[in-house]
Amino acid sequence: MAEKSGTYWVTWANTHAKNSHSLDDLSEPFKSNVKAFIKALKDAGATVTVSTTKRSDKRAYLFHCSWKIAQGKCKAADAEKMTGVNIQWDHGSDTDSKKSAEKMVSGFGLAVPPRSSNPPALTSNHISGKAIDITIKWTGILKVKNKKGAEVSVPYKQNVNQNTALHSIGESYSVKKIKTDAPHWSYNGR
Ligand SMILES: [Zn+2]
Repeated sequence: MAEKSGTYWVTWANTHAKNSHSLDDLSEPFKSNVKAFIKALKDAGATVTVSTTKRSDKRAYLFHCSWKIAQGKCKAADAEKMTGVNIQWDHGSDTDSKKSAEKMVSGFGLAVPPRSSNPPALTSNHISGKAIDITIKWTGILKVKNKKGAEVSVPYKQNVNQNTALHSIGESYSVKKIKTDAPHWSYNGR
């Protein structure tokens, strides 16, 4: 039987649709590329903290639909379905459906207008295991080896988005930086 939308699904997702922090949940060849990149950084003395690797597709689905219904961008009755997530978005009245979706949006801590005017994406390189969020720290100048084994000097920058020398190192391992999202690297720079 379907379970109606609401906070039940926030709890459910926190058990059944968690994001992964494990490098092993990434898909190849990105997994091996990331591992090699991180190893080079660590060998050079940097600390690397992984926050998200693979994002659950079920979690993304719950984010996406609850956001759209809560924002009035999609009628509960028209929400897409997903195998393995037996959720009933439509409570029979638009007001009730919207209120329950709003509870999920706040339960998940989703950014809403004016902070974000786009629904959380249904497709992301995280969902296919081809993106990673990492924080890389060091002091002074990091002497790190690129894929070819050449040592490159990379000064630390507070804003990683501006550290093009570091981006080039990642690129040599086919791990590409997106310059608008500080921790985010992926197989194609998206
Ligand atoms: Zn990311």
